[in-house]
Amino acid sequence: MLPVIGKSQTTEGLFHAFGGSGGGFQIAPAVGECLALQICGHTPQVSLQPFSIERFRSCVHTSDKLASEFDRAAGS
Ligand SMILES: Cc1cc2nc3c(=O)[nH]c(=O)nc-3n(C[C@H](O)[C@H](O)[C@H](O)COP(=O)(O)OP(=O)(O)OC[C@H]3O[C@@H](n4cnc5c(N)ncnc54)[C@H](O)[C@@H]3O)c2cc1C
Repeated sequence: MLPVIGKSQTTEGLFHAFGGSGGGFQIAPAVGECLALQICGHTPQVSLQPFSIERFRSCVHTSDKLASEFDRAAGS
């Protein structure tokens, strides 16, 4: 339930900004600013590490709160 924002780990020149889920409009200005800085070779003030596509390479840890909300939505 966290968006993917930042550099592709496999393809030079490709940047991701997707998975905004139910809050994508609200965070769009900040996402645009951070991504623009990264594309121009600068480091955004906010770390994009938690939003990296890289996180799907290993085990994804989900908080109990999010897990229970997702399970409830899925009807289990
Ligand atoms: C009912 C609803 C209510 C919402 N309410 C809110 C709200 O109140 N506040 C809020 O902050 N967020 C809200 N959101 C979430 C917000 O709409 C999304 O997070 C945001 O639109 C995501 O933007 P995006 O540009 O990443 O993706 P999208 O808006 O999904 O844009 C992706 C685009 O890529 C196109 N596309 C897909 N595949 C391809 C392809 N292969 N080739 C070419 N084009 C392609 C699609 O047609 C689409 O135009 C709501 C979402 C829904 C569904």
